[in-house]
This record gives sequence, structure tokens and C-alpha cells, in this order.
Amino acid sequence: MMKTEIRYSWIYDVLLNKHDFGFPLEEYKGLQEKCKPFEELYKKYIRKIIKLIEGETKRKEWAYKFIPIYIVKVKPENEDNKWKGFADPLTLKYIEDSTPERMLKTLIHELIHLNLDNEEQIKRGAEKNEEIVSALTDKVWGKLNIK
Ligand SMILES: [Zn+2]
Repeated sequence: MMKTEIRYSWIYDVLLNKHDFGFPLEEYKGLQEKCKPFEELYKKYIRKIIKLIEGETKRKEWAYKFIPIYIVKVKPENEDNKWKGFADPLTLKYIEDSTPERMLKTLIHELIHLNLDNEEQIKRGAEKNEEIVSALTDKVWGKLNIK
């Protein structure tokens, strides 16, 4: 089974914050504290999520055998756009007024990108591909029966 692990990287946060080396370490440590509810949800559901994704896409192969999941914080003033996450390297943005459930849904979305054939995703074009990934995300999410 494909394996995942949640990670935090201060230097990654610094880079995403436009080389802001003043990115406070306390803020970074606070991030891990704030992400505990998400980590609990993650631990509870990740195996089920992986199986459900493989079931929906009918693909057992993943882009990688092991996928680290980076949780980052971008300060509002360094925010370029409204991205919530991306697939490679798998990165989830901690958003203050979001919820652990929404973060988990973003994780499912990004994992699906890493389960689908990359060439096919490129051929489809971004817009069509996002439609397909979002529909698959909703299907997996629906089967988790969270709330
Ligand atoms: Zn996407």
C-alpha cells in the first residue's frame, strides 16, 4: 500500500513566504499545534482514503510509493493566490478560517492527482482535468461519511 506521512518544514515555509527569513519560529511551531485536529482526522481516514481512491480510479499505481504531505503556512501578506494545496510535492496550506475536514478534502483532491496517469492529465488540459479530479474527490469524500 502506498504510504504517506505528514511533515512540517520551516525552510519550505520560508520559501513560500518569499524568502521571509523573519518567518517566526513560534508561528511555525504554533502551526503544528493548530494542525493536531487535522492530523487526527488524517490518521483515522488515510488508509480508507487511499483504498477509496484506488477503487474510484481503478488504478493501484501511484506517482510515488511514498508521499510526504507538507503542511505549510503562508502569511496573508505573502499570499499570491487562493491555492489550498498542490500535488507535487504534496502540500497543504493551513488556512486559519478553514476546518480540518476541508483540509482533508484538499488532501484527497491532491492525492487523486498523484494516482491518475500524469500524461493523461496533461493531455486533458487543466480545466477538464480539474473537473474530473473534483468529481472523484466528491465521490471519495461521500463514501467517508464524515459529518
Ligand atoms: Zn487539482
